[in-house]
Amino acid sequence: MSDCPFRWRYKDNPQDESEDEANRMWNRVIEAHIHLDDGDVWPVDACNFVICAGPESGHVATLAGIGVTPTGELSMPLPVAPRKRYVYCVHAPEGPGLACPLVVDPTGAYFRREGYGGHYLCGMSPDESEEPAVDNLEVDHDFFLDRVWPIIAKRASAFENLKVMHKWTDFF
Ligand SMILES: Cc1cc2nc3c(=O)[nH]c(=O)nc-3n(C[C@H](O)[C@H](O)[C@H](O)COP(=O)(O)OP(=O)(O)OC[C@H]3O[C@@H](n4cnc5c(N)ncnc54)[C@H](O)[C@@H]3O)c2cc1C
Repeated sequence: MSDCPFRWRYKDNPQDESEDEANRMWNRVIEAHIHLDDGDVWPVDACNFVICAGPESGHVATLAGIGVTPTGELSMPLPVAPRKRYVYCVHAPEGPGLACPLVVDPTGAYFRREGYGGHYLCGMSPDESEEPAVDNLEVDHDFFLDRVWPIIAKRASAFENLKVMHKWTDFF
């Protein structure tokens, strides 16, 4: 069984590259291969498949032949790619308090209360030019210091006194 996890409706061995491309332009996937951890591969036949690979959906769509040809009904790529975002949990003893709503600044910086002990979650999306690499799950602490903190402290001066307790990241 080939490495490609999908098979199309057209014949497996097109005569040349242009026939292969024409086939992909107009044909849908009819078989998907489920690769199990133990190395076993299960083929599944269906007339329709739904791509639900979360942030990897764009990549899976490419494997399925979507967006790989210049023309045809499947020529439009699926515009879904992973984006790394950081979340910071801060303790601010003089913070906005129990009535603190979810606040989203026009810059995209946000904060909300987390529990009842003076903790708040906050974060923001980076500019396109500073989009972090998606090959690791490291949290950029400087991004909080340089970008998030000044904005939330301007919104609520009680955030001038805070300590970052936890921080995490994932792909959205
Ligand atoms: C840190 C974090 C916190 C969040 N908190 C909240 C929250 O509080 N409330 C809320 O409503 N939403 C929250 N979300 C968003 C929520 O998790 C997502 O919207 C939701 O999980 C999307 O579901 P999905 O099924 O589309 O994708 P996913 O849950 O991402 O599932 C995709 C699946 O596809 C699999 N996959 C990927 N690539 C391949 C491949 N090549 N082959 C086979 N399988 C593949 C993955 O392993 C995964 O199991 C949060 C997300 C993150 C990252």
